[in-house]
Amino acid sequence: MALVEVKGVSKHFGGLTAVSKVDLAVNAGEVHCLIGPNGAGKSTLFKLIVGLYPPSQGSILFDTVDITAERPYARVQRGMSIKMQAPSVFKELPVRQNIRIALQERLSGAERIAEEDRLLTLLNLGPDSEKLAGALSHGQQQWLEIGMALALKPQLLLLDEPTAGMSPDETFKTGELIKSFNAEGMTVLVVEHDMAFVRQVAQRVTVLHLGKIFARGDLKGILQDEKVAQIYLGK
Ligand code: ADP
Ligand code: MG
Repeated sequence: MALVEVKGVSKHFGGLTAVSKVDLAVNAGEVHCLIGPNGAGKSTLFKLIVGLYPPSQGSILFDTVDITAERPYARVQRGMSIKMQAPSVFKELPVRQNIRIALQERLSGAERIAEEDRLLTLLNLGPDSEKLAGALSHGQQQWLEIGMALALKPQLLLLDEPTAGMSPDETFKTGELIKSFNAEGMTVLVVEHDMAFVRQVAQRVTVLHLGKIFARGDLKGILQDEKVAQIYLGK
């Protein structure tokens, strides 16, 4: 059932505990939202899951295999892909070239070009495919990054604040896109601040606060939770 299991994971940076004894299960086939105030440890938890940081304590399982000691590349090969919070598109290269770089390991020739076209269309980037990535709007750059993560054809897609800098219309389209990947069987874990977006896509929600799990449950329960409203929505 659980595609990813985080068990008792902590991460210390010197004297600061960014993530503290976190248990989290992401079920195969779900869209799971991770929410919480700034500095709660969300991005750190993502980096622990993909192996960009070693945990100070605890273990991480993917598809029941303990991957705690695996390098990020090995985790990508198992089927994980991440869009990080900080933009990482190649701004000096055309949009299509960005997608191509991400596809290169998996596909070549006509098959690769067909997949480039499919992803560019899916992400509404078709008309801009020859522009430099740096010339895209911020929202479009986010889409391009999502496209690069999708190019790896992941089983698990991790998206850290995918709608930052997007208009409400772009945000809604992103939500619909995520739902369409999910309908095709992709498991998605997403960090998001925009509660309208969380309502649109989430099946289950985990709330992180001060590095710890503060609440978790189905979308409805979390939205009705007064403790969550207090810490998160400032009510
Ligand atoms: P969130 O994504 O929820 O806003 P982060 O995971 O980015 O939170 O950060 C959690 C805490 O860990 C913050 O206090 C942040 O300053 C600290 N932190 C994150 N990354 C590092 C790092 N590489 N070195 C030192 N402190 C860090
Ligand atoms: Mg963050």
